Amino acid sequence: MLACRLQAVSCRRLAPYPLYPVLSMTLCLVCDKKRSKSSTSSASSLFPLAPRTVRIVEVGPRDGLQNEQAIISTETKVELIDRLSDTGLQTIEATAFVSKKWVPQMGDSTEVMARIHKKPGVGYPVLTPNLKGFEDALSAGATEVSVFGAASEAFSLKNINCSVAESLDRFQPVIAAAKAHKFKVRGYVSCVLGCPYEGKVAPEKVAKVARALYDMGCYEISLGDTIGTGTPGSTRAMLLATKAFIPAEHLAVHFHDTYGQALANILTALQEGIGVVDASVAGLGGCPYAAGASGNVATEDVVYMLHGMGICTGIDLSSLARAGHFISEAVGRNTQSKAGREILKKNDQQTTEK
Ligand SMILES: [Zn+2]
Repeated sequence: MLACRLQAVSCRRLAPYPLYPVLSMTLCLVCDKKRSKSSTSSASSLFPLAPRTVRIVEVGPRDGLQNEQAIISTETKVELIDRLSDTGLQTIEATAFVSKKWVPQMGDSTEVMARIHKKPGVGYPVLTPNLKGFEDALSAGATEVSVFGAASEAFSLKNINCSVAESLDRFQPVIAAAKAHKFKVRGYVSCVLGCPYEGKVAPEKVAKVARALYDMGCYEISLGDTIGTGTPGSTRAMLLATKAFIPAEHLAVHFHDTYGQALANILTALQEGIGVVDASVAGLGGCPYAAGASGNVATEDVVYMLHGMGICTGIDLSSLARAGHFISEAVGRNTQSKAGREILKKNDQQTTEK
């Protein structure tokens, strides 16, 4: 197993998605194993427009836990991130430097950053909505940050009490400070396929906000279907509009499974050449706009689909499913990942049979 992971790390170093598809296809032992078992066809022949490798941005420890009711101990958060670091993930959004008063779930961000075992080759971005957050993140040892904008005026006003244009202005000093420290800055755009207050959001609005973040220096823009109402139809229209302003290799997608559309939407995005997908282990994080509804798409489900398509992720699915089980027990509910549940069941059966 260790050999597999080392191999996966070298694959990532040599072949960042999606520029060197052939190299990564041959080098990633984790995914090669999966491919040789399940299929002889490769992604390139079955899905000619999809990238050969996909980088998953694991958002469970931040986006996920922030939207869970339960307040999780620092120790559990650290163990979750350490377990995720051992799965082959390259990017794990670790925490957020936000007001403890408004977001108590992220109140221990400094301690989390101090205690996690940062694995070489893995990025641990943190959310920093303002300069104070950035300075705290800097002191805590972060080296990569994210900022968060909305495509919907009403959502921006209700959530952060300012217009979309004002919110972009607020990011200027954060991004400037981050650049001065040679940090990578990731930009999020929320409500790209629907707003809880405005309803439908025009693809052109998404493209405009995404382009503004890109022009401000964000290396990657994650397009988020915050309320999970998108379908492959609206996903494709939004991506076509956005790709007219930003190259696909600088875009990521972030889907919520509220209406059960997340995997179909991800498949649509792959076919539009998107090679970075946000996902949350065990589907952590509910939907704040629909009580009891599913939140983020589960990482295990996404990875299972990608490996089945012959797309390399460098992630060991069994380790990921175990990390999902660990955190589901900690938050006191069943995993939201169907693939994760079945993989664990199968592993348990195999252990009993031995
Ligand atoms: Zn999310």
